[in-house]
Amino acid sequence: MTKCRTHIEKTYLTDRPLGNSQADTNMAKKSAPTRAPKVIPHKDHYARISFLYQASNKFCLQPKYQILSRGYGRNLDLVAKKTVLKLSPALKRTLCKKCNMLLIPGLTMTMKVENESKAESHHNDVLVHTCIECGEKRRFPVGKNRHYDLFSEREGVELPAE
Ligand SMILES: [Zn+2]
Repeated sequence: MTKCRTHIEKTYLTDRPLGNSQADTNMAKKSAPTRAPKVIPHKDHYARISFLYQASNKFCLQPKYQILSRGYGRNLDLVAKKTVLKLSPALKRTLCKKCNMLLIPGLTMTMKVENESKAESHHNDVLVHTCIECGEKRRFPVGKNRHYDLFSEREGVELPAE
């Protein structure tokens, strides 16, 4: 592997004119790990979803406009389903699946850890998010793997820019 890499670097250096070779190698080294896609597919849909999420977030903080916030959340859900976009789990987990309310801990959602096992082992801990608006519960088995990373947070996973 290292042999191959050095070979490529050597050929890259020899093909370039001498004046710009140092600058080119620096650029190549910097741009290699964070390679952004040139064309983002469905960019307009992502922009629309981003706008709807921000609007929902803004109106959710004011109690008299929470119905409007739910409307934006519903719109966001419909756009994502219609255009078959893969939303990031961080965004999906902040929306109630039943009433489309934006879930903010302490304001529109309660969080608690349940353990219904008889042994009361920490491996059976379950994080429960309860929507205050409709009572819908979402359960996450956090005790099974305490070092669990979402696929979007793992290294080497490229997500489309939102
Ligand atoms: Zn709800």
